[in-house]
Parts: sequence; structure tokens; C-alpha cells
Amino acid sequence: MLNFGTATIDTISDLDRFALPIDLLFPGRKIETLEPHRADLAPYHVDFDAGEILLGVHSHLVRIGGRTILIDTCVGEHKPRPRRPDWDQRASSGYLERLARAGLRPEDIDIVMCTHLHTDHVGWNTQLVDGRWVPTFPNARYLIGRAEFDHWQARELESPGVHNHGCFNDSVLPIIEAGLADFVEDGFDIGGGLSLTALPGHTPGQLGLCLCHGTQQALFCADAVHSPVQVYQPEWASRFCSDPAMAVETRLKLYDRLADTGNLLIPAHLRHFSAMRIEGSGSGFVPGFVT
Ligand SMILES: [Zn+2]
Repeated sequence: MLNFGTATIDTISDLDRFALPIDLLFPGRKIETLEPHRADLAPYHVDFDAGEILLGVHSHLVRIGGRTILIDTCVGEHKPRPRRPDWDQRASSGYLERLARAGLRPEDIDIVMCTHLHTDHVGWNTQLVDGRWVPTFPNARYLIGRAEFDHWQARELESPGVHNHGCFNDSVLPIIEAGLADFVEDGFDIGGGLSLTALPGHTPGQLGLCLCHGTQQALFCADAVHSPVQVYQPEWASRFCSDPAMAVETRLKLYDRLADTGNLLIPAHLRHFSAMRIEGSGSGFVPGFVT
């Protein structure tokens, strides 16, 4: 657990470790390019022998002012994801048990923030009960970006069920139908020093959360940064970014804004550490890991 001002931040893991061959995540990129940074990137973020980038699939839990905010809900259970074996029809993931160890039942979550609507960020939005997908967090308001929702809804109308492993139907629509969704935009004020900030490029409507305490900030940046690898290599866009050039631009703006401020960057897939600080180094950047 990380203390930040009057808030606490917990990482609730759903799947760790999640290994992707470097060419699958970063097309055309080579593991040898990262060799100069081996001491920082191994063993948690890069498996140099296997040529893999190592990610975790996590939620972040913010408690502030008596409220609980769960940021992103990972892969979930029992969902048909046949194109990704380690996501497909999962069971016994231990996710809700880890939430319980942090002192919370699903009923205790006040806000679920969906940074974007990719499969590995909305899975626990719902769970299977008596053959139906029902909201896992029945007392929460689920915040969903308006631009993000409109984008994926339009794609679903064009070709139903094929995008994002089908998660729109089993993990997003049931929340809308249950009346638990609030559509939000860049700048939305959640209260308690938390507000939303647009981070487009990975998806058209991706939103990050900025937690402010005085002059200090912690920025939950979702998939604007997948891995510390992209601190050394900001121009490495992932295969899963809808607009790679914009994703790079957004990432560089983040680094420029955060560099040498001491502020915290909290990517959704960061393993082992709670956060990173961004430090300027010559014309580039290096990560400073926060336990
Ligand atoms: Zn992701």
C-alpha cells in the first residue's frame, strides 16, 4: 500500500505475470535494444532470455475521504476469450479474495473507473450469476468515457462481437442496462482531489485519473505507458494502440509534464512496484521506481 496525502493506493492484481513476446507488443522492436537498461528492467519488466515484455494486469484501489475508487477491472472470470488462452474462461483467479485482503467486499466499492474499454480493463465489471452477466460492484457508479463508449459502440454496430474479444457485450453493456454507468469526459471532477484527464492514442477516448494533494500529483495513466521500457523508448507504440503516433505524442507530453517533479506515474500494467517517477536524462528519460 502506498500513502499519498490523505489517500491510500493499493494494487489489486488479477493476472501476474502476463508475458508477451516483444514483437507482439512492440512490432519490429528488438530485445537487444534494451540491453543497456538490463539492470533496471530485469527481472520484473523484461525477460531478456525469452525475449518477452512482462506485464501485470492490475486494478488500483484509491481510498480517500471515506470513498473507495477502483480503477480498471482487469480480465475477470468465465469470459470466452478464445484468442488469448491465459484469459479464456478463467476461474479461481483469486481477485476478489485479494480485494477482501485489502479490507473490501464488492459492495463497498463506490466508484469503478473504466479508463478505456479494452478487454483487460473491464473484465471484473461483471460476473456470471445464474447464466447472466451482472455487475460485480452493485453499489458503484461506473465511470465510462463518453468518447470511448461512442467509439466502441459504433464499431460494434458495424461488426458485432468481434472487437476487444467481445467484451463490449459481456462487460460493458450489462453495466449500462443495470443503470450503473455515468458517462464522463476530460476534466471531470470526481472530488477528493481526483479528476480525469484525456490520454488519447492507445484508444480514442482513454482517460487517466489525476490525484492531487497540494502541489503533488499521482497520475493513473492506464495504457498511455504499458511498461517502463517505454520510459527509455517513448516512441515504441504498442500493437494495440489505435493511433500509434498520437499514443507517442501523449506519452511524451506526460513525461515532459512529470519529469523531475517527484510526481508519481502509475501505469495499469506496472509489475512489482507501486509507481514510477520520471527523471530527465540527457535528451531522454529514465524511470525511478517507487515500492
Ligand atoms: Zn491494458
